[in-house]
Amino acid sequence: MTAEVAAPMIKASAVNKYFGDLHVLREITLEVPRGQVVVVLGPSGSGKSTLCRAINRLEPINSGEIAVDGVPLPAEGKALAALRADVGMVFQSFNLFAHKTIVENVMLAPVKVRKVGQAEARKTAMELLERVGIANQADKYPAQLSGGQQQRVAIARALAMRPKVMLFDEPTSALDPEMVQEVLDVMTGLAKDGMTMLVVTHEMGFARRAADRVIFMADGEIVEDTTPEEFFTAPKSERAKDFLGKIL
Ligand code: ADP
Ligand code: MG
Repeated sequence: MTAEVAAPMIKASAVNKYFGDLHVLREITLEVPRGQVVVVLGPSGSGKSTLCRAINRLEPINSGEIAVDGVPLPAEGKALAALRADVGMVFQSFNLFAHKTIVENVMLAPVKVRKVGQAEARKTAMELLERVGIANQADKYPAQLSGGQQQRVAIARALAMRPKVMLFDEPTSALDPEMVQEVLDVMTGLAKDGMTMLVVTHEMGFARRAADRVIFMADGEIVEDTTPEEFFTAPKSERAKDFLGKIL
């Protein structure tokens, strides 16, 4: 074993975020090492989505610092665009471009943002579609695919930018139950391949099996930060016990 001296992949230091008077992220401090899979749990309104959006700088923060792979996120400009490309994000709503084919959807950002050539972008897109199990649908349009398939395309599209980190914000919440597992399987594959992941989900089976770590948020704070085993069998806070009592 060689000594690892790399910076954490995600480092949030004393991050505060307000929406008006509402204090949505309270002194969030968090380090996610390279390759770790963190599942973020918590009741609705606890700040999970805002945390994801802050890490991706879709949402400006009021104080504190967020760094990705050792580089503090700048507020704007070219440096921001480059850093944002390092962070892939998958949302509940997949938002594929309806008038572009599946493979074109995956090629788009690398061509536009990374200035990758068409042929190379297509080759990479096909490899990624292979990886998420839908290469045979490449020339169809999003509406011709099921929700689960579309979400897998959305994952391939995020991966096409070669992100260092993947953020998932309730990626299976909008799916019919029978399509949830195929998306979770793709995510589990990514985790096994060593991707650093922050996953907001209500899929407790995924949290138990795939997570290295569980973060439980309530009212904008990290209330528990522990292993899945600990969290599910011996939650410490009343908030977590209450939460688990409602969902399990
Ligand atoms: P979660 O994802 O855990 O459900 P969110 O991060 O979406 O929580 O929201 C945290 C809190 O911030 C909630 O009270 C929500 O209503 C509020 N909020 C989220 N986005 C906005 C916004 N753009 N403007 C005002 N309030 C917001
Ligand atoms: Mg949310």
